[in-house]
Amino acid sequence: MTDRYVYDLSEGSAEMKPLLGGKGAGVAEMKRLGVPVPDGFTVTTEACVDTMTRKGEWPEGLESQVWEGLKRLEERTGRALGDSTKPLLVSVRSGAVISMPGMMDTILNLGISDDTVEAIAKEADNERFAWDCYRRFIQMYGEVVEGIDAHVYEDALTALKEQKGVESDTDLSADDLKGLVDTFKRLSNEQLGGNWTTDPREQLMRAVDAVFRSWLNPRAFVYRKANKIPDDLGTAVNVMQMVFGNRGDTSATGVCFTRNPATGAKELYGEFLVNAQGEDVVAGIRTPRSLAEMEEVLPEAYHDLINTMKKMESHYRDMQDMEFTVENGKLYLLQTRNGKRTAAAALKVARDLVDEGVITKEEALMRIEPAQLDQLLHEAIDPDHTEEPVAEGLPASPGAAVGEAVFDADVAAERGAKGEKVVLIRFETTPDDIHGVIVSQGVLTAHGGMTSHAAVVARGMGKPCVAGARGIKIDAKAATLTIGDIVIHEGDMITLDGSTGEVFASGLKLIPPQINEDFQEVLSWADEVRRLGVEANADNATDAAKARELGAEGIGLCRTEHMFFGADRLPAMHEMITAETPEERQAAVDKILPMQQDDFEGIFTAMKGLPVTVRLLDPPLHEFLPNLVEQSLKVQKMEDQGADAGELDKERRLLAQVKKLHEQNPMLGTRGCRLGMLYPEIPDMQARAIIRAVLSVLKKEGETVQIHIMIPLVFTPVELETHRRIVQQAIDEEFEAAGTKVDVKIGTMIELPRAALIADKIAEVADFFSFGTNDLTQTTLGISRDDAENGFLTEYLRTKVLKNNPFASIDQEGVGQLVAGAVEKGRKTNPELSLGVCGEHGGDPDSIHFFNKTGLDYVSCSPFRVPIARFAAAQAVI
Ligand code: ADP
Ligand code: MG
Ligand code: MG
Repeated sequence: MTDRYVYDLSEGSAEMKPLLGGKGAGVAEMKRLGVPVPDGFTVTTEACVDTMTRKGEWPEGLESQVWEGLKRLEERTGRALGDSTKPLLVSVRSGAVISMPGMMDTILNLGISDDTVEAIAKEADNERFAWDCYRRFIQMYGEVVEGIDAHVYEDALTALKEQKGVESDTDLSADDLKGLVDTFKRLSNEQLGGNWTTDPREQLMRAVDAVFRSWLNPRAFVYRKANKIPDDLGTAVNVMQMVFGNRGDTSATGVCFTRNPATGAKELYGEFLVNAQGEDVVAGIRTPRSLAEMEEVLPEAYHDLINTMKKMESHYRDMQDMEFTVENGKLYLLQTRNGKRTAAAALKVARDLVDEGVITKEEALMRIEPAQLDQLLHEAIDPDHTEEPVAEGLPASPGAAVGEAVFDADVAAERGAKGEKVVLIRFETTPDDIHGVIVSQGVLTAHGGMTSHAAVVARGMGKPCVAGARGIKIDAKAATLTIGDIVIHEGDMITLDGSTGEVFASGLKLIPPQINEDFQEVLSWADEVRRLGVEANADNATDAAKARELGAEGIGLCRTEHMFFGADRLPAMHEMITAETPEERQAAVDKILPMQQDDFEGIFTAMKGLPVTVRLLDPPLHEFLPNLVEQSLKVQKMEDQGADAGELDKERRLLAQVKKLHEQNPMLGTRGCRLGMLYPEIPDMQARAIIRAVLSVLKKEGETVQIHIMIPLVFTPVELETHRRIVQQAIDEEFEAAGTKVDVKIGTMIELPRAALIADKIAEVADFFSFGTNDLTQTTLGISRDDAENGFLTEYLRTKVLKNNPFASIDQEGVGQLVAGAVEKGRKTNPELSLGVCGEHGGDPDSIHFFNKTGLDYVSCSPFRVPIARFAAAQAVI
């Protein structure tokens, strides 16, 4: 028995979408519900797939099944294809399973020919209409099926209009169109070297085949890639009787949405054109009229349409996007599908549908794409702008930034502090630039990828960033940015779109973020459902406040190193690093302590009693020191100028330390807890600063604090034990002196493979684990995340050696195993252990699904990712 490839419309239903495609299943479902649709049949997606696997040859039985389908349609309609008295005209429409609007091909009016055109004219009592259908058919068939260039037809049409002195197609008479059909036929035949078919039955077969082939056209490939639609699904083909919106003034065609797809408002939304066919509405040849006007022109069809819209929306329980045609006052529906919408509309529609009792909160949550929410959390470029971008880089941190170009972090810091709006432009950024980044509207770099320093820092602060913009030349000395012929000087206006990666050489208008009531309401449903806690990474009071505002339930990672980069702090830091004796070091550390304390007070106050996890100093010390070459030059210059002996000595010591601390692989060097093992004064000071801040906050009325102290980069329990001892002693002493006490938890990051592998031993001395998945990825895959995207990783992603960037979405297969194993081992020896993740993956929806499954207690991500993480965590349990 051969496979079944053809189904009559009345045999289909919405459930058969994988087989019949979205369009075929949608029309069948409407028929089932009693909505008027033209009759027809559907050739299945399987027929298309089978044809593709046979390199274009139709599988056995397909052709005869199409003929039988056609015969049944002819019997039902009382018409026949190519018949000169009662001709049947059909459309041949593509219909993918996942809708790809406008990507594939459709042919209308098939069946019109020299033999049938007169009968059509007579039946409609409209000569012009018949010839209009005919010329449309030749053009569509010629282009889509025979691959004839559109210009061939368009030029002939334009020439005719010029000759007749008319503006619009509708001004051409029946005779004009008759002439045009002759011209079109002649041109088509010429184009095909005499092989133009005029037989409708042959045309039907070729049209079906052309629709199969349109699955493989380049724009369809691009669309599928962009929307992650598999390439092997294939398309169905729908053969449907034509209904005519171009029969005269009581006929029309149009499109409508059951709600406003831009805002989500429950209001009339649509357009129509009287006396028009198919694509005329979207093609932009004539300006369509707003749907509201249809009530006056075609009142009966209008009311039927409104009722049908209501019916279909409540049937599908979602906003519908529909196509309709009115023929001689009678309404037909030609398509219905769930309407595409903006993020703002998605939230409003979801909320309204729940309020209307149509869907549950869980269903509403599942319909929202967490990544789409990003659009709403940031300022955006006013969509009405007409400017062309001058350059494009990676969309490294979402949102738009406008300001004056600045090429130096110090200049940015100085001007930003005065309240001026600046955009920092650097070849790449280093931690030294942080003060400039903080006050800038956004950051543009020529180098580095999505996980480069600039990108990570910018995302953390919710600042727009375009990274790795190739083709731009930055001359920091001259303070210029050159893109081809365009030169941007310091002070010139520039606009970045961190959501698209575009750069504009002028100041564009921005629109504010849209965190409105819909957003809050839908998020609150997510909170009811999710199991995972959502915390934020925040290093200062401003970020902490932002994190709270966006719903963070604590701070999962408070990095302390950023607190050392401030201009007032670096000198003390230098003293600490260059200290030669423990006493000297203690003296320097004592200077830093009150500053740290101050920062912590701000953060603890902002968090109002929610847990705060403070990570002790992590980066290699040399990151705080000046560059080797620069410092050498400085000392040289001071020597030449005979500088003050004391000053010179200080700079020389700094230089010596720069040399001494230089490491080939600093990320694998003296950093994290290794610093504290060598210089116990540092963790001691940090613990005291934390406790003094706690004490000071507790003095204020009604305040509480929950502190977790986190030790980074541990790979043996000995490191953690040593730190516990130092930190615990400092804590006890400080509390004792104050005569009060709160519980402080001490735990560790799991960010080295060894730590994950011996997690059971580490858990015995830890109150909590926080998976540092950035470093864990870096050390497990052996990829430097600061360099990878400049080199092979980009290539790996392009050639699909790797499916995803492991720094953006956790490598579940490899790194994920370490996480899952450490969770199990850790809980075994310490059932009380609390488990979280900090780092970029904490805000990535796919990774969040994995963390939920693995049984973590919470994720921590940058403040601006918090709402997305709340959504994703809810979707992970539904
Ligand atoms: P697309 O997927 O590009 O929207 P469609 O198959 O929906 O392509 O068809 C293109 C246009 O032709 C639409 O406006 C549709 O409503 C119209 N159309 C398709 N089939 C018919 C038909 N049988 N009668 C009248 N109009 C039709
Ligand atoms: Mg359509
Ligand atoms: Mg780390």
